[in-house]
Amino acid sequence: MTNIFRRHTITTMLGLAIAALSPALHAQTVAPIKAVASFSILGDLVRQVGGDRVAVDVLVGPGSDAHVFQPTPSQARLVGQAQIVFSNGLGFEGWMSRLLNTASYKGRHVVVSQGIKPIKAEADDHGHGHGHKHGHHHDEADPHAWQAVPNVIAYVGNIAKGLCESDATGCDQYQRNADAYIAQLKTLDTDIRAIWAAIPAAQRKVITSHDAFGYYAHAYGVKFLAPQGVNTDSEASAKGVAQLVRQIKKEQIKALFVESISDPRLIAQIGRETGVKPAGELFSDSLSDAQGPAASYVAMMRANTTALTQAIQGH
Ligand code: ZN
Repeated sequence: MTNIFRRHTITTMLGLAIAALSPALHAQTVAPIKAVASFSILGDLVRQVGGDRVAVDVLVGPGSDAHVFQPTPSQARLVGQAQIVFSNGLGFEGWMSRLLNTASYKGRHVVVSQGIKPIKAEADDHGHGHGHKHGHHHDEADPHAWQAVPNVIAYVGNIAKGLCESDATGCDQYQRNADAYIAQLKTLDTDIRAIWAAIPAAQRKVITSHDAFGYYAHAYGVKFLAPQGVNTDSEASAKGVAQLVRQIKKEQIKALFVESISDPRLIAQIGRETGVKPAGELFSDSLSDAQGPAASYVAMMRANTTALTQAIQGH
């Protein structure tokens, strides 16, 4: 009797001591919410808000192209087991609804771009090709809304709301994480504006491979020209490329970039025909790996802004 009592007391005391000494250890014993994010940039945003309460799997990883993604059976299983799925929306993940069906997914699906004002994909007034193999229209929304920081502040609000609805116990923590991250994003936005303010508007012209920087252009006052449309599956036409080459020469554009997800050959060809040397790599639709310059969303926006402005200034 005494023995059992003592053992029970010791166990209880041990439990109390662990709970009191280590709130972090306690948190780890709660199974994290299983979340799936469609692409690497969104995966980072969900991790920022979810913290240690949420385990995030990313479908389209660093360096891969979400426009032309084909989910594997194991990724469909991953989605089937998730409690919450996050996608960008605006037509970015054309494969998503089919994947959710295949996976018989019954959980919450948060479209993080909800409520933002989409811009239209640019009409072909500056010569980028419209392959439109898959029936895209000229008035389709540009999906790359994360390229303007104010939109990502809205994304973060939608992420926090979705997590709160899935896990009410963690809601306070999600809100705190979101607030802290939004403070970082506001600083980022201010910094990007300040960097561009130092460059005359007439010089803010850049060539990239596909039309992924429309929101960046609107937010920060930069003109982007691209041989490919907003979707990487549209082909650049020979006529479009020839027009672009003429425009680069006429406007004396110095900043020529490839994107980490795109085939670099087209930009290399434009470089040869214009005599402009490609200035490096931009991150449009994907983060870099953990060792690269764009391992997080904030790092990506800073790396792109530095690369763009240095190329324009001839560094
Ligand atoms: Zn894209």
